[in-house]
Amino acid sequence: MKISIGLPALALLLTGCIALPPGLHVTVGGDANYYDAPTRTIALAPDQPMAIWAHEACHARQHEKILERDPASDNLWLYFQTPEGVSFLSASSQVPSGAVLEDEAWVCAWYYVDPSRLTSGGLAWAQEWLR
Ligand SMILES: [Zn+2]
Repeated sequence: MKISIGLPALALLLTGCIALPPGLHVTVGGDANYYDAPTRTIALAPDQPMAIWAHEACHARQHEKILERDPASDNLWLYFQTPEGVSFLSASSQVPSGAVLEDEAWVCAWYYVDPSRLTSGGLAWAQEWLR
């Protein structure tokens, strides 16, 4: 299997713009894009756009925020108990759900890839929490 990594995405990952869990793996070549917390793996289908790379890296970042408080946890729902997660719920007037984990990962992804796609509220939240 040939693995290719887009230079911008690689740069994003390696320059430390997004805090990622220790021991993170990236696999390319499957048929789906996801982050698997138990194995700390970003899995990407081939030839994905930068926003998808960033979105999955932002799920890994959610995990990193959890690990800062509980180094053994693989439960992404605990993101909602982190100060950042609490802030996102408040700023977006939402209750914890899988959809909110997705929303936050998209706000994070667009913040790094194309901030012009964010609402003013999303941009303000991202500037406060994602730096
Ligand atoms: Zn997602």
